Amino acid sequence: MPELPEVETARSLIADEALNRLIVDVDDGDTFVCRPHSPGELRDALTGRTLTAAHRRGKAMWCETSGVGRSQVSGPDLGIHLGMGGRIVVTSQDGQAAEGGGPRRRDAQPRKAEWDRFTLNFADGGSLVLFDKRRLGRVRLNPDIDALGPDAATVTPAEFRTLITKGSIAVKARLLDQSRIAGVGNLLADEILWKAKVSPEAPTSSLQRKDADRLYRALGAALESAIAKGGVHTGDVIAARRPGGTCPRCGAEMRHGTVGGRSTWWCSREQPGRA
Ligand SMILES: [Zn+2]
Repeated sequence: MPELPEVETARSLIADEALNRLIVDVDDGDTFVCRPHSPGELRDALTGRTLTAAHRRGKAMWCETSGVGRSQVSGPDLGIHLGMGGRIVVTSQDGQAAEGGGPRRRDAQPRKAEWDRFTLNFADGGSLVLFDKRRLGRVRLNPDIDALGPDAATVTPAEFRTLITKGSIAVKARLLDQSRIAGVGNLLADEILWKAKVSPEAPTSSLQRKDADRLYRALGAALESAIAKGGVHTGDVIAARRPGGTCPRCGAEMRHGTVGGRSTWWCSREQPGRA
């Protein structure tokens, strides 16, 4: 599932390839992905405009739009959420397609037209498509971004320390809470906790300042590496998240359980928690 690094590759693709291209038509016929909008509503709102900027907070992405024609009054924001496996495909004027949203699985089937859930067609003949086989992505105007906590890539050490130590729930559950800190999903959370040598089950109230600071540094390092390498699946501990897996740092057996409602793997030696 796309986490912050995957969404960032989609955002930067839009920023690099899709801005300032005139939108001449919109396929918004998928009423589930485009809910609550009715068919034609997104088309009417976006035709004649261009995308002018691409933003991201956590896993949420949105684009600013221009006025129509010579109007200086900008249009609505176009929110795009990749859901559980959506990808952005931007096609250039000469038909070259580029994808963003994380790596394609090795066993991925070729793109089928019916999995294109939303399309902006540009005047130059190119397009921007939300390709989403599982149909769990979402496209909507003026999405509510304020419900999200600060972005995991830009949160300050002081903000993070407060967010990660407040209350008394499992630290992994806190890392996954998008209203507290936006962008960390299941794999990234396991990677961060492993890097910082903190048990996923450790109560937030038990974390010392040094633990919080170690988690903050682990968050930064994990994000930087995943963005550079193309996704959270490249993390150091991810391949060990399997039965019989051993810690890539100390060689101890990996332990498995459900924490924060999610399948969780951690090092039995370096991340000791509840027995
Ligand atoms: Zn270990």
